[in-house]
Amino acid sequence: MSQRITILPETLTNKIAAGEVVERPASVIKELIENSLDAGATDISVEIIAGGRRRILVTDNGHGMSREDALLSLERHATSKIRVDSDLDRILTLGFRGEALPSIASVSRFSLATRESGTLEGTEIIVEGGRVRDVRACGMPAGTVIGVEQIFYNLPPRLKFMKSAETETGHVADVIARMAVSRPDVAFSCTSDERELLRLLRSDLRWRLAQVVGRESSQHLYPVKGGDGYATVTGFVSGPALMRSGTQAIYTYVNGRFIRDKVVQHAVMQAYRGVIDRGRYPVVALFIETSPGEVDVNVHPTKHEVRFRRQADVHDAIQAAVEEVLRSSPWLASAPPAAASTADGATGQAYRQRIAAAAQASLSLPLRPLYQPQTAEQSGPASATPVVSPADNISVNEPAPPFLPEQPPTESAGYFSSLSVIGQFHCEYILCQSDSELVIIDQHAASERVAYQLLKQQCQSGGIESQRLLFPETVELSYSEVAVATRFTTDLAGIGFDLEPFGGTTIMVSAVPRLVGKKDAILLVRDILAELERFGTSGAFNDALESLLSRIACHSVIRGAHPLEKRQIKELLYHMDHTDFAASCPHGRPVSYVVTLAGLQRIFKRT
Ligand code: ADP
Ligand code: MG
Repeated sequence: MSQRITILPETLTNKIAAGEVVERPASVIKELIENSLDAGATDISVEIIAGGRRRILVTDNGHGMSREDALLSLERHATSKIRVDSDLDRILTLGFRGEALPSIASVSRFSLATRESGTLEGTEIIVEGGRVRDVRACGMPAGTVIGVEQIFYNLPPRLKFMKSAETETGHVADVIARMAVSRPDVAFSCTSDERELLRLLRSDLRWRLAQVVGRESSQHLYPVKGGDGYATVTGFVSGPALMRSGTQAIYTYVNGRFIRDKVVQHAVMQAYRGVIDRGRYPVVALFIETSPGEVDVNVHPTKHEVRFRRQADVHDAIQAAVEEVLRSSPWLASAPPAAASTADGATGQAYRQRIAAAAQASLSLPLRPLYQPQTAEQSGPASATPVVSPADNISVNEPAPPFLPEQPPTESAGYFSSLSVIGQFHCEYILCQSDSELVIIDQHAASERVAYQLLKQQCQSGGIESQRLLFPETVELSYSEVAVATRFTTDLAGIGFDLEPFGGTTIMVSAVPRLVGKKDAILLVRDILAELERFGTSGAFNDALESLLSRIACHSVIRGAHPLEKRQIKELLYHMDHTDFAASCPHGRPVSYVVTLAGLQRIFKRT
C-alpha cells in the first residue's frame, strides 16, 4: 500500500497562510498596527523603505512581550487574545487568529524586539524565511519593534505582483489613515525613505478625520449620533460641498475594526440619495457598535468583511442615523443641490422653481456655450469678459470661454444640421423634426460626445489645450492619489494639467484642460487621479487615456437641466454632424432617439 498523503511542515503551511494575510507591504503594516493597538500602544511609528518592499519597521509603546511569549508569538495559532470556543463570540481585540506574525515571518527576513515594562532587558529574535536564527537579550524602551525586510524574497510569484514603490507607499499611507481614523487617541507617524509621510498627533475624531481627508474639510463635517439598543452609530458625515468621485473617503468601522461592507455602504448611500450627484461619494467616518456576538468578523483572514446576525436592522439604523443629520443640516435648507434635480428623478417643487428661475434668467443673460469648438481664431487666450450662467452660478471673475459665432459655418448640411428644431423639453432634451421623424436628443450626452471627440483630436495632434488658472488652486488628496499625481506629472501635462506637489497631501493645480475651465477644475483633478489609481500602475498611462478623456469631456459640459437658445442648439447639431457617433459614446449611453411617424400612428391607433 502506498502512502500519498503527508502533513506539511510548518514553514510551508505558514507560507501558504501568508498568501491570504500578506498581500503586500500595506497588509503587513495593517497586521502589525493591529497588534500594537491590541497591546495598548498610544504611539505607533512606521518606517518604510522603497514602499515597504525593502524594509518595514513598526515601533510601538505597548505592553511588550516576555521572552517566552515572544517566541510563542511566532508559532502558528498562538495568540493571547482568545482561549476557548466561546471567546469567538466576544472578540473585542483586532486580532484573534494567531496567524499574522508566523505568516509574515515565513515570507521575509524578520526581526522582533520587545520589552515588557518593569523588566530590565528585552528580547530580540531574528527569523529568516520562517526559521528562527537567533534569540538574544537586548536593551530597548518598553514596547515592541518589528522589522520586515525583503518581503516575499522567498516567494517569487508574489514578488512579481508588487507594484512600484510609489504605489505601495500610497497603499501603506491609506492603511495607516484608516486605522488612525479609528483611534484618534493614538499618535501615528510614518516615514517613507526617511522622509516624513504623515504625522498624526493625538486629537479628537473631527480633527483626525480632517487631518486624513484634508484640512479644508473639517467645516463640512456633521456629527452623527444614532442607532438603537441593538446597534449604535456615531461619527461624522460630510455635506455636499465635500464629495469624492469614489468610495475612498468612506471609512466604516464595526466595533472599532475597519470594514468594507456592501450593506453598510449601501445604507450610507441610501441616506444620501437625492442629495448628491450620481457617481459622487461623501466623506464619512462611521462607527457601528453592536454586541460582539451579533457580528461575525471571522469571514475572511484579512477581517475586512463581517456578517451581521440582523443585517437589515443594522442597515436601517445606519441609514436612519445619517438621514437624520442630512435632514437637519443647514445646507439642505439653504442650497438645494443641483443633483436633486437629476438624480433618481426627484421632481419636487424646489426643482421646478429652479428650472423656472434658470429659464427666466436666461432671457437676460448671455449663455455659456455647451462646449468650445476647436477653431483657429478661438485658440488664443480666453476672453476676460465675465459671464454668468444662470443654471450653475459660475463666479463672475472666472475667465469665460469666448462665444461661438452667431451662426455655425454653413457647409453642406449633415443629418443633424438638417433637422428643424422644435424646442427643448425639460431643459434636458432637444426635440427636432425631420420629414417623418421626431428626433429626441439628450443634450448632455450629445455635448459630452462632441467634447470627447474634440479632446481625442487634440490629443492626436500634439496635446490637449490647456488653460492656466488665474489663481492656482490647492487640492487635498489621499496619500495614494498624491503618489499617482507625482508619478504621472508629465503624462498629465500632455492632457492639459499642470500639477505640482505642494507638501504633504496637498498638490497645486496651475492649469487644466481648456474645455473645462476653473469651475470644475478641482473636481476634475480629483476624478482624474482616482481614475488613474483605478487603472493601477502596471499599465501604461495610455491604457487609461480613453477613460481620462471621457472624464474630461464629462466635466466640460453642463450637467443636468440647462436652458438653451436656439442658436446653441443649432451649434450642437452642427458639431454632432462632425462627430463620429459610430465610435462608442464615452459612457456608452445613447445620444438620440427617433420616433417615426408610423410609430406614432401605431401608438394612436391611426393605422
Ligand atoms: P493575533 O494578533 O491574531 O493574536 P498575531 O500573530 O498577530 O496573532 O500575534 C500573536 C501574538 O503576539 C498576539 O496575540 C500578541 O499576544 C503578541 N503580539 C504581537 N504583536 C505584539 C505587539 N506589538 N505587542 C505586544 N504583543 C504582541
Ligand atoms: Mg495580530
